[in-house]
Amino acid sequence: MRVAIISDIHANLEALTAVLADIDAEGVDRIVCLGDVVGYGANPAECLALVRARAPHCVLGNHDSAVFEPELRLLFSTNARAAAEWTARQLDAEAVSWLRALPFRLLLDGVLFVHAAPSEPERWDYVFGLMEARMHAESFTERLCFIGHTHHAAVYSLRPAVKHYNGFDRFIINPGSVGQPRDGNPRASYGLLDTVAGSYENRRIEYDIARAAGKIIGAKLPKRLADRLYEGR
Ligand code: ZN
Repeated sequence: MRVAIISDIHANLEALTAVLADIDAEGVDRIVCLGDVVGYGANPAECLALVRARAPHCVLGNHDSAVFEPELRLLFSTNARAAAEWTARQLDAEAVSWLRALPFRLLLDGVLFVHAAPSEPERWDYVFGLMEARMHAESFTERLCFIGHTHHAAVYSLRPAVKHYNGFDRFIINPGSVGQPRDGNPRASYGLLDTVAGSYENRRIEYDIARAAGKIIGAKLPKRLADRLYEGR
């Protein structure tokens, strides 16, 4: 089976549309979303509708949760909080109830999908490096776990002797962020898993950054949220 894994879309419709076009060209059997569909970007309702149509297998992200849990916004940075408050005003009750129903964990064909650290995804802890990833190795029993949240694309081998992805050892994989990459590469990021070939690929897709950034400015969201799309930071 070929599975596309998308994460941290953050209401960036231009990035999501470009990634979905690439996924369609690649041909996949399933698209799984690791959450943070909304927050930061200017098209939360449109991105939510697209994810519901194309990736109904979706877990809850902290920015999704902040739509219906205002207390969570208090933990956010100033820019993230301003965007969360704006986002909550853009979504209708039906969209909000879809977000509310999202699970923290999904298990599909033996693969675990979460937004934050797999031990307790509801705590929204980050997994930033190999050592942190290995600290979470015993917190789940599946061979493979996909995480988002940091916006950094990475493949973490849980066995020190293994350096690269293979179809049989244990791994934690972050597909990176579709809508707000922070690993220095501004192109939209997603993951492509082939369970038959035993392969995994991080794909980086060009999209119309100027258009997405222009909409953020037009919506009077914090300017930094537009600038960082060009930087990929
Ligand atoms: Zn995020």
